[in-house]
Amino acid sequence: MIAEEIRVTGIVQGVGFRPHVYHIAKKNGLRGEVFNDGEGVLIRILGSEESVVQFVHQLQKECPPLARINKITRTNYAGEFNFDDFTIASSIHSAINTQIAPDAATCPQCQSEIFDPYSRWFRYPFTNCTHCGPRLSIIRAIPYDRSNTSMAKFTMCPTCDREYNDVTNRRFHAQPTACHICGPKAWLERADGKPFAVTMFSMLDEIDAVCTLLQQGEIVAIKSIGGINLACDSHYPI
Ligand SMILES: [Zn+2]
Ligand SMILES: [Zn+2]
Repeated sequence: MIAEEIRVTGIVQGVGFRPHVYHIAKKNGLRGEVFNDGEGVLIRILGSEESVVQFVHQLQKECPPLARINKITRTNYAGEFNFDDFTIASSIHSAINTQIAPDAATCPQCQSEIFDPYSRWFRYPFTNCTHCGPRLSIIRAIPYDRSNTSMAKFTMCPTCDREYNDVTNRRFHAQPTACHICGPKAWLERADGKPFAVTMFSMLDEIDAVCTLLQQGEIVAIKSIGGINLACDSHYPI
């Protein structure tokens, strides 16, 4: 049996890296822990030499889509080792020298949930998961935990909270996870501030009303997470 401390640097926070580590550690029968700190991710493992080698190999080979590993440093671990299992531990606040992923476009799985009438994310514009959604534009401090992002004020509903804490779920520790019940809402305003009813443009919701406005040749400023996009139908006659 060998005990090692494995330091992983690069874009490894907020990209599903800890659950990735957890799954392959369990698969290889290793004990230990993984956590985020100011340098990136730190892993402590105990197991046979063969399974540790296999673990490190899979760590790089099966990297989550948004993660980018710069360096993996393995050292012998001489500290106390009181682990019966493999766990994801709380982040440690230390000197900061790590990278954060940029915002990523909605992944295919989230897209299918948004368009599925039976999904609880049906037409929810801020749907995201560990593999997509905002990162850099919502972060206020490192480590990248929900409490350090602009999502901190949106308290998760019991269902989102359950998924956030379920290591087998795609939204495990997805810091910006949100839904119709607990997350930010979209609304529509006129540029001149005059009141109007969304139902004048759509019987569905604000997003659909924007589609109607664009089809009518209007220009819409869409204020989202990372800034404002001006949208119009470029084929519309002036
Ligand atoms: Zn996603
Ligand atoms: Zn929710």
